[in-house]
Amino acid sequence: MKIGFIGLGNMGAPMAANLVKAGHEVTGFDAAGVTVTGVQAASSSSAAATGADVVITMLPNGAILRSVADEVIPVMSKGAALVDCSTVDVDSARAVAAQAEAAGLLAVDAPVSGGTGGATAGTLTFMAGGTDAAFAKAKPLFDIMGQKAVHCGDAGAGQAAKICNNMILGVTMIATCEAFALADKLGLDRQKMFDVVSTSSGYSWTMNAYCPAPGVGPQSPADNGYQPGFAAELMLKDLRLSQQAAQSADADTPMGQAAAALYAQFVEAEDGKGKDFSAMLPRFEKRGRG
Ligand code: NAD
Repeated sequence: MKIGFIGLGNMGAPMAANLVKAGHEVTGFDAAGVTVTGVQAASSSSAAATGADVVITMLPNGAILRSVADEVIPVMSKGAALVDCSTVDVDSARAVAAQAEAAGLLAVDAPVSGGTGGATAGTLTFMAGGTDAAFAKAKPLFDIMGQKAVHCGDAGAGQAAKICNNMILGVTMIATCEAFALADKLGLDRQKMFDVVSTSSGYSWTMNAYCPAPGVGPQSPADNGYQPGFAAELMLKDLRLSQQAAQSADADTPMGQAAAALYAQFVEAEDGKGKDFSAMLPRFEKRGRG
């Protein structure tokens, strides 16, 4: 396939490289002038998109996605697909899909989980929204860049699945960290706390697979000085998107709101920036009730 790839950052560059390795003809553009071995460099988004069967975008946010979509949709051939893999707000995903469909294109919103490690290894999970035909066109590319692609529903459903999952993740991480900090103050050994909770009704992915306490449970960023992993500021971005969506859909999400406020405090007013999102545990450890 002829693929245009726009946004060759930490995620986009290795994803584009995997498409090249699989034998596709990839033309790329990044506003910062990034180039990737094997990817033909274009001088603009529209140049990268011209003549492509599929255009993939991997961009920072919804406003940038909308501006790139304005540039590429007019130059794409009818029947080609616009596949956005960025994490953006549901409203932007739906607006871009409607604009693409009105121009005779297929559109998929397909945010990912798996981080830069998954992007490099080609083991991402794609959560996709769009028509059956759009998903079918993108699926072979998801199979190269990832290990799993779930068709979640119509336009915006991929973004909806991603932010709902990450809202649970953020809330659960905070609950796990505050419980460890309380257990410490009650004199409970962390290993015993893990042994009980990981096999009791308080178990979760954050406890069992990504334990925020160093030296306890399987290897996690806690064992590596809380280097990310999944950075606290990316968790904050996703929690904010969940609250933007909740506002727009009139959904009551008090725990998501509290988690967004706590991560905002941690990243913007404390020392959380650049740390893994599980570094909430040392944060709580240092604090009292006041
Ligand atoms: P990044 O900042 O490394 O890459 C974004 C790239 O887009 C940059 O290279 C930037 O120069 C480029 N860009 C910005 N505006 C542009 C424009 N108008 N035209 C062309 N290029 C432009 O970010 P990333 O870590 O690669 O993340 C990309 C997306 O994937 C984000 O939406 C992020 O939330 C999501 N995501 C990231 C991770 C992760 O672990 N990094 C995990 C899952 C999802």
